[in-house]
Amino acid sequence: MATPAAVVPPCAKPAKPASAAPAHACTAAPTRQRRAAPWCALVGAGPGNPELLTLQALRLLRRATLLLVDDLVSDGVVALAQRGRRRPARVVYVGKRGGCASTPQAFIERLMVAEALAGERVVRIKGGDPFVFGRGGEEADALRRHGISVQVASGITAAVAASAALGVPLTHREHAHGVMLVTGHPKPGAAALHWPTLAAAAAQGLTLVVYMGVAQLPTLQAGLLQGLPADTPAAIVQHASLPQQRLAVTTLGALACTVAEQGLGSPAVLVIGDVLAGLLALQTAAAPHAAVAEAATVKPAPSRRAA
Ligand code: SAH
Repeated sequence: MATPAAVVPPCAKPAKPASAAPAHACTAAPTRQRRAAPWCALVGAGPGNPELLTLQALRLLRRATLLLVDDLVSDGVVALAQRGRRRPARVVYVGKRGGCASTPQAFIERLMVAEALAGERVVRIKGGDPFVFGRGGEEADALRRHGISVQVASGITAAVAASAALGVPLTHREHAHGVMLVTGHPKPGAAALHWPTLAAAAAQGLTLVVYMGVAQLPTLQAGLLQGLPADTPAAIVQHASLPQQRLAVTTLGALACTVAEQGLGSPAVLVIGDVLAGLLALQTAAAPHAAVAEAATVKPAPSRRAA
């Protein structure tokens, strides 16, 4: 595996502050090489399995001189970005792995802006899709405010990876005519979601997928049960697409209990709705006396090691 040129803890100061950029590039003495216009890419890494990276994402990753890596980005993806490069990108982990409890969003934005203005090809790589609960919008706004052009590369979001893991479409037309992606962990200070209202929408034939919902599970389950029957099919998928992927299919009424009993946890999405009815029926037929569904351990096909 290629070794990153440098790993800087996110709480450390950026290597090149914004002031390193020429204040008046257009009046600066001509240099042999013209500096490219400041640019930054927000790249979706997908749910973890490097095979789920898009070709566009991989091309951008391999162009980077600085990679700002989120917590949920797997090591395999970072290794692919660096593999075989004569000059590997500098890598900065801007999550818990970087040595801080968490990296403040404002710090990350300042770092992206400073490095892009200093001429680095900054690629911000995020789990899933950068625009699905990924703070990509805030980062794109900050970059554009500083005249930095932003390129966005989509990634496979966790809901889609969970759907594949379950083998169930989120919009099976016999059961659902839409899907709602919601977060169980809204921005601090924002109004909490009204789960009974979401349950009413789900009862109209919308599949509900909850990101970051495990910690709130008892609360959200109680709220949803105000608008949906307890036997509504429900599932949890943890580490979708990765070798350690685990999932459980059960009912809404038993969801919190199943998750606790099976020791399932983050990162995981919850899927609630009739699209899971066939899967639940199959499972119940296979184990008619089981009150609670057994969590299945599903191993995706092993991918070649990235490094
Ligand atoms: N931008 C990401 C979501 C980031 S929010 C995306 O599009 O997927 C982080 C949450 O995403 C986690 O708490 C979890 O709910 C979900 N998540 C991310 N990766 C996951 C995975 N491999 N399996 C299950 N859930 C995942």
